[in-house]
Amino acid sequence: MSLKIYNTLSRRKEEFVPLEPGKVKMYVCGPTVYNLIHIGNARPMIVFDTVRRYMEHKGYEVNYVSNFTDVDDKIIKKAIEEGVDAEVISTRYIAECKKDMEAMNVRPATTHPLATQEIDGMLQMIQTLIDRGHAYKAADGTVYFRTRSFQEYGKLSHKNLDDLRGGNRSLLVSGEDQKEDMLDFVLWKPKKEGEPYWESCWCQGRPGWHIECSVMSKKYLGDEIDIHAGGEDLIFPHHENEIAQSEAANGKTFARYWMHNAFLNIDNRKMSKSAGNFFTVRDISEKYDLQVLRFFMLSAHYRSQLNFSDALMEAAKNGYERIVTSVENLNFLLENGGTEELSDAERELLQEAERFAARFDEAMDDDFNTADALSVIFELVKFANTHAGRESSKAFLQTLKEEIVALCDICGLIVERQAEMLDSDIEALIAERQEARKAKNFARADEIRQELLERGIVLEDTREGVKWKRA
Ligand code: AMP
Ligand code: ZN
Repeated sequence: MSLKIYNTLSRRKEEFVPLEPGKVKMYVCGPTVYNLIHIGNARPMIVFDTVRRYMEHKGYEVNYVSNFTDVDDKIIKKAIEEGVDAEVISTRYIAECKKDMEAMNVRPATTHPLATQEIDGMLQMIQTLIDRGHAYKAADGTVYFRTRSFQEYGKLSHKNLDDLRGGNRSLLVSGEDQKEDMLDFVLWKPKKEGEPYWESCWCQGRPGWHIECSVMSKKYLGDEIDIHAGGEDLIFPHHENEIAQSEAANGKTFARYWMHNAFLNIDNRKMSKSAGNFFTVRDISEKYDLQVLRFFMLSAHYRSQLNFSDALMEAAKNGYERIVTSVENLNFLLENGGTEELSDAERELLQEAERFAARFDEAMDDDFNTADALSVIFELVKFANTHAGRESSKAFLQTLKEEIVALCDICGLIVERQAEMLDSDIEALIAERQEARKAKNFARADEIRQELLERGIVLEDTREGVKWKRA
């Protein structure tokens, strides 16, 4: 079965054909880092991490780039409030964001570029745009993109240039009176007092928001990429402007498939920092295992709006736990018995079970329909609960368990909790650490401490020797 992706550009599901066989180049617009991320921001992270995992499951090598916007008005405002440099704020919230990502089992991108580290590339692209007549410098040093010079402007958001001109006041930005045309947007702007700035031949200043993604995508993935993604609020103007900049500068099609997740709402309104109607990922982690949040996000198709509510989170919790319990059950049966011989009846049942994997792929091939894919996992769980028992063979139990775990893994759902370490295993590792320290092999000693920490065991070196406790 071939993979179909809904492309915002054509407004149709299209068969996915990569630029280079077996490889996917994918860019996902990341968060602006001035605060803890909210669960609306978490939606694209979870959705596109799942897209990446599924692509890998299909055998593609995925080069996944996702930026952090680390220079922006909101970051600067927060820095001024706290009396610190903007970098202190962005560094802090990048670290916090990475913790949240890990807790949601969102894998780190292949590269996470930072806007402030890519200024040279931005200066170069802006100069190319000026040289080609697609950009100009205004009297105060601001550089604008000449929107009308890009014939295809509006092709992603399906807007008509003249309609836009008609009256979208939100397009106006500071310095607007110096623009040649109301539709022109900022590529570079002069610094204001107390703001971070960089030298350029136009003025001391900083980049506009859109240019960073065009530049980082070009640097880490090349002029043409397969997939560009983000939340649907980015379609216009951010992604429309990225297309204009990249295609005008590079003379090539920027991205072949544009994917956009719908909003996570609360009381039927978009969750956002500015509206104040948000929960951070951290808030949710106090009440739920974040795997439940992940399950909740995947229980709807990514292009459907999703309303956050306690009732839906409770339903997600029940659903997730049903899978975890089934896996626990299979593990219990495996540890406490399981016959040696796979029977003919079991062989037939396993053949039947294989069909769940095929149906899971079918659902995901249809524009990543995770809602249907989770239903298939439930059917498999029900099948396992019905057919696995004390009389089952080890091979039968193991195969069923592996199939459930593998399908969940494609969704990034961890459903098999690590068994608690036995006291004897912990003590053996502590003894090995002592030996390593005696032999001055501190690297190994640290490694063991870390390994134990990851399994929830904290060591304390005391005068009476090493003590340990479960965290
Ligand atoms: P921002 O930090 O606002 O630039 O957002 C980072 C990412 O989160 C972008 O892809 C946004 O489109 C996405 N996003 C922000 N709020 C929501 C929401 N309520 N639902 C879904 N996606 C969102
Ligand atoms: Zn972007």
